[in-house]
Amino acid sequence: MEVAPGIYSMTQTKGAYVHAFLLDDGNGLTLVDTLYDRDAHRILAELERIGKSVKDIKHIIMTHSHRSHLGGLALLKELSGAPVYAHEWEFDLIAGDRPAQAVSWLPHKPVRAWPLQITLNLNVAKHPPATVDNFVHEGDRIGPLQVFYCPGHSPGHLSFYWQERRLLIAGDAICTWPSFMLGWRGFTLNPKQHRASVRRLAELDSEIVCVGHGEPLASGAAQRIRAALPTLD
Ligand SMILES: [Zn+2]
Ligand SMILES: [Zn+2]
Repeated sequence: MEVAPGIYSMTQTKGAYVHAFLLDDGNGLTLVDTLYDRDAHRILAELERIGKSVKDIKHIIMTHSHRSHLGGLALLKELSGAPVYAHEWEFDLIAGDRPAQAVSWLPHKPVRAWPLQITLNLNVAKHPPATVDNFVHEGDRIGPLQVFYCPGHSPGHLSFYWQERRLLIAGDAICTWPSFMLGWRGFTLNPKQHRASVRRLAELDSEIVCVGHGEPLASGAAQRIRAALPTLD
């Protein structure tokens, strides 16, 4: 689905309406996250739909290393030959050397995400391991994106901003499924860091926000985020 010119969103129900994004800035494609399925068929189908080849992917950037976002990574890396970027605190999870840190067992809002919480804690859903080629840091540029280090949901969680398009890719710091909220409380490893991260994202003059779970908001993103700030714990 084209959210706005050059911004494509792909989703699947499994993994709690997880989303991945293809960005076309005229210099090749940047892929953010890889959905749940190992065969990446939804991402490959979207490439075909927009008349691009998997070889047009020049960068693959991971917001963080939870299972829902990692499924297609190994295959897409192999098919595209593109380098994979992530924060250094996530790379060994992506490589399969360490399970994701357990989150709370208690049901929090949204309760519909609780099964995913349990699955994450049990570490039963493995992903095909992949090697991270480049560690990224606050302020780095990858393709059209500026990197924002936004820990809290996970220690190495990243968000991205495409200044010219006023596009914020928030990762799991913000979600819109099952409703708009500033992160899922039950998945937030460090609430204090998370609050600081979201407050920084709220300062951006974003028009569009794309999130890890749920549909993108195509307009009025900054106002929507700022209005929700009082709901942060
Ligand atoms: Zn996550
Ligand atoms: Zn997620």
